Amino acid sequence: MMNNINEMKFATKAIHAGQEPDPTTGAVMTPIYQTSTYWQKSPGEHKGYEYSRGTNPTRKALEDCLAALENCKYGLAFSSGMGATDAVLRLLKPGDEVITGNDLYGGSYRIFTKVYEKYGIKFHFLDLSDPENIKPHINQNTKLVWIETPTNPTMRIIDIEGVAKITKANNILLTVDNTFASPYLQNPIDLGADIVMHSVTKYIGGHSDVVMGALLTNNEQLYKDLFFVYNACGATPGPQDAFLVLRGIKTLHLRMKAHCENGEKVAHYLKNHPKIDKIYWPGFEDHPNHAIAKKQMRGFGGMVSITLKDADLQETFRIASRFKVFSLAESLGGVESLVNHPTTMTHGSIPKADREKVGVTDNLLRLSVGVEDIDDLLADLEQALS
Ligand SMILES: *Cc1c(COP(=O)(O)O)cnc(C)c1O
Repeated sequence: MMNNINEMKFATKAIHAGQEPDPTTGAVMTPIYQTSTYWQKSPGEHKGYEYSRGTNPTRKALEDCLAALENCKYGLAFSSGMGATDAVLRLLKPGDEVITGNDLYGGSYRIFTKVYEKYGIKFHFLDLSDPENIKPHINQNTKLVWIETPTNPTMRIIDIEGVAKITKANNILLTVDNTFASPYLQNPIDLGADIVMHSVTKYIGGHSDVVMGALLTNNEQLYKDLFFVYNACGATPGPQDAFLVLRGIKTLHLRMKAHCENGEKVAHYLKNHPKIDKIYWPGFEDHPNHAIAKKQMRGFGGMVSITLKDADLQETFRIASRFKVFSLAESLGGVESLVNHPTTMTHGSIPKADREKVGVTDNLLRLSVGVEDIDDLLADLEQALS
């Protein structure tokens, strides 16, 4: 129906990419192809689908839509963000080395250190706010640089283009975890990344009802290698979840705009609040990486982290439990506002000394600002902090 969807604007792609009216019925919404297998006229003679671990039409529509949103050709959906991360790591072999940030999603840190170190892969955790820090750690075994920006939970910004220049010159794969920004705010492949990883669970799904991951790339060989892992290892999601995410994406641009607006208002409200010590939000001009954020992002998002002044763990717990509109929960990126306590929740698997070095202290709270009415969100913060 739409032959050049990939040349259209973000909102149009969010609603239409990968999706055509169903050829048998004309249904406008992509059907949930709830089938594990597909009829073959004679062995090997089929319509491109054989078995749903490898391919499923509902999932394929979603993968094409996600690829379009990241301005690239190939998409693969996984049953979780960690499943997607795992598939990238399976491209490595014993002896290979990985350079990554020292301020990462706890689950990424956990799979690197607790799963893959055991298989003889070495990880370097560095401060990547200056891409030059990577250079001294590169040797002939360096195969992958893995970055997350904005970082979780302290909202540092890493210069994707700066890192990509170094990885390209040294023939190293660059993967960017783009979960916090979403494709609405940032497209790492345009800046030189080889692979974009998403926890689709967060902003892309957007309604806190699905756990899913994705990998996107423009490199055909890389896509084939990742497809092999995806089909061989089998962490692929079912068609109902793919449908829910396709539905969620149709409002991604509307939701992200609202997350950014509310995030900005919450950040400004908290900045001078007497109970707040530090605040982390890349939209402030005095944020150390504000210039890069402005350069590589189209907005600053809805994630705001704060530390509470003179608060020990008990006082932090007391405040975290007082919210009435924000829910105390892990995860982020849904329409509803969430408050998270990183050191006991999302980042519990990172050793205390390591996390405190990068500011992940017991008095830190991370807010995922949702799209409720801003007056109710500010009133909730006011009463919780009082
Ligand atoms: C949640 C998250 C992940 C892991 O994704 P799951 O869908 O929970 O497996 C990875 N990276 C970041 C930045 C996340 O927030």
